[in-house]
Amino acid sequence: MARKLQTQANGNLTPSVIVRNWVGGEERDATGGVRFDSRSASNQVDVVGTAPLSGMEDVEAACRAAAAAYPAWSATPAPVRGEIVGRIGEAISHHKELLSKLVCREIGKSMKESRGEVQEVIDTAHFFQSEGRRLYGQTVHSEMPNKELFTYRRSLGVAGMITAGNFPIAVPSWKILPAILTGNTVVWKPSEDAPVIAYLFGRIMEEAGVPAGVVNIVHGAGGGGAGEAILACVDKGLIQKISFTGSTAVGRKVGEVCGRNLQIPSLELGGKNPMVVLRDANIDVAVEGALFSGYGTAGQRCTSLGNLILDKPIAAEFKARLLKRLSEIKIGDVTKSEDVLYGPMINQRFYENFMKHFEMGKADGARLLTEKHGRITKENAPANFVGDPDAGYYVFPTLWEGVTADMKLSQTEIFGPVVTVMEVDGFAEALAAANCAPYGLSSSCYTMNPTDILRFKNGIHAGMTSINNTTNGAEAHMPFGGVGWSGNGTRESGVWVIDAYTRWHAVNEDLAGKLQLAQMDVDFGETKEPTDLSFLA
Ligand code: NAD
Repeated sequence: MARKLQTQANGNLTPSVIVRNWVGGEERDATGGVRFDSRSASNQVDVVGTAPLSGMEDVEAACRAAAAAYPAWSATPAPVRGEIVGRIGEAISHHKELLSKLVCREIGKSMKESRGEVQEVIDTAHFFQSEGRRLYGQTVHSEMPNKELFTYRRSLGVAGMITAGNFPIAVPSWKILPAILTGNTVVWKPSEDAPVIAYLFGRIMEEAGVPAGVVNIVHGAGGGGAGEAILACVDKGLIQKISFTGSTAVGRKVGEVCGRNLQIPSLELGGKNPMVVLRDANIDVAVEGALFSGYGTAGQRCTSLGNLILDKPIAAEFKARLLKRLSEIKIGDVTKSEDVLYGPMINQRFYENFMKHFEMGKADGARLLTEKHGRITKENAPANFVGDPDAGYYVFPTLWEGVTADMKLSQTEIFGPVVTVMEVDGFAEALAAANCAPYGLSSSCYTMNPTDILRFKNGIHAGMTSINNTTNGAEAHMPFGGVGWSGNGTRESGVWVIDAYTRWHAVNEDLAGKLQLAQMDVDFGETKEPTDLSFLA
């Protein structure tokens, strides 16, 4: 029989979920007894759920539960752990449509993107299911006879995870699934912007057979709350690995704590992703790419397009075509229509941060190409707006021109539906502009010229690059991550993430029956007199 969720009435709307922490296999409220609301991004009225506001005591209890579960879980054969991870994928597939609706309802992503997000969890689970049968070490020849060398991957211990709300289930799955597959146990602090989807992900992991204490979920705030408590637990020796996805500012704090504890955190941070369009590009394809990259999810992706770098001969036409497409798109309540390109800002915090960039752009001397700016209201809403604009934080798409590499506008992650246009003359200037920001997450270049494709791939300072495609689009079996202010070089996804949750253990086994020392007792034999090749001179 299906296990019921605890819910409460929510006016005439779908009931609110009563979210609880999941610690040692039990559902618990926060010790302080305080709860916070998660409201639908689309209308700020629909309380999707209420969640516990946890603190230090709750996080410590979760760390202890994770430590208690660790010996048995790390000793469980990896193929068995893989099978459980695979079952998580099956359970998510089973609930895919309802989970997608929840992502859409809670954080305001379009249904198309919400389905994509949930599919990413399924892909990740299926990928790591088979990695459970492939956690290879090496058998290595020794310098000495009757001696064998081996390498093993070992798990790290308790992994603390802190995630952002804009990818509320895909990004956590990128961390949790490989971490548990490799034998670690987890304490996860989801974003306070999306506790309900996180809670259901926990329920699904339980449904799939994840044993008590292997994954623990503690809800709450970041600074001054459960997020900071997780970092304090690194200092207390209760956590052996941190994986963080969020802003560069918080990522630096995470890096400091882990650094002083000699741990290597996984840091997946912000982006200011460039898209170059060269004069020979297929403009139709590139305009659609810029539209989706810059404005999809209301620009609230780490891989959203920031700087659009246009080659001068095509710049005027490109801007005109992009503006035309922006006048045609549908914005609005994603829970009411499937063909909305983008919905609301996730909440007031994201809206206010977005609004700040207008002052920056003005001070920089850049020029606005779009006519209406800022918040969409009943008074100024486009004719095809879906739903009630006053209900959520909806904003107009923004396009700036006249942007240069020395402006704050080209250097700063804005995190909203805004694109900044830089115009350049030819490939060399385009590449320099693409590399102008301190971030280096994703990048893209539209051209049909194979030499420029090669030069872009070699010259771009980024963790990910698309040729003739958008700055977005991760696949579960490719490495995801950035350079510079976008991260510390660790990667999520694919076989590469396994290095983030394991350490190498070198073992030698000596069956010689006597003491033999490397380098010192090695017999390389003797060389003979050199062959006389002087007759060739
Ligand atoms: P944020 O850094 O404010 O918050 C992210 C998480 O950190 C949340 O769970 C929050 O509660 C927690 N947190 C905040 N302050 C903390 C502190 N002092 N100590 C411990 N935890 C703390 O980020 P955000 O504004 O919610 O999300 C948007 C940012 O995330 C953007 O910069 C975006 O580019 C980035 N992001 C990056 C990726 C990636 O994979 N590179 C993916 C998604 C989002």
